[in-house]
Amino acid sequence: MNLPIIVTIDGPAGTGKSSAASELAMRLGFDMLDTGAMYRAVALLSIESAIDPADEAALAVAMDRSQLSVDFSSRPPAIQLNGRNLHERIRDADVTQIVSLIASHHEVRVRLVQAQREVAAQHERLVTEGRDQGSVVFPDATVRIWLDARAEVRAHRRSEELRLRGEQVDEARVLAEIIARDASDRGRSEGPLRKPVGADSIDTSNLSFAAVVDDLERLVRRRLHEANVGCGCGGGA
Ligand code: C5P
Repeated sequence: MNLPIIVTIDGPAGTGKSSAASELAMRLGFDMLDTGAMYRAVALLSIESAIDPADEAALAVAMDRSQLSVDFSSRPPAIQLNGRNLHERIRDADVTQIVSLIASHHEVRVRLVQAQREVAAQHERLVTEGRDQGSVVFPDATVRIWLDARAEVRAHRRSEELRLRGEQVDEARVLAEIIARDASDRGRSEGPLRKPVGADSIDTSNLSFAAVVDDLERLVRRRLHEANVGCGCGGGA
């Protein structure tokens, strides 16, 4: 039997983590988990159920009554709430505005951390990305990576994504929102955004998307080789 391999990728908003993790997973033949999408799904649950996003107890009850799952048969894997694919709805501004508050609640985090560990138990080759994957959820992961970029670069990338979706964008506002969300993610007591001790770092500020994925792939293959872990993913690791 193969030993399970977990690659964690953490970092602040707008570093391109989800797209890079998805592409990396495809190259290595791993599954990919976007944990931000799980927090966004809970934010959408709060909106659709008219629950105050500050009401931790009501959110916990709603989560326990709902089925949050990931459909790994689609590419990239799709987050589902009660069997419904949420698609890009979870990227909308109303969700983004409250997701950091939602993610600060202990009752929300324990449930999602448990769900993430359950996913990992079922996928023996997994790239998982978020804020706390290498620091809290999988501190013993085979490879732990921290992706970062200057805030202005991250705001520009996020703005381009929104423009591609046909939205009107005020880039200064996107920057302010990114800075506020990072501060909130860094400042919370549970699962705060921080570089995992001993993680490898990549600053993507001056790198194209393809270069980021190339760097990630090289790094992961090297680390797996050093750890003497065969991943069966070709290319020498
Ligand atoms: O990565 P994304 O922007 O989709 O994440 C949305 C929000 O979900 C983050 O701003 C953060 O508040 C929360 N999050 C988290 N822990 C994770 C992943 C995301 O708190 N592992």
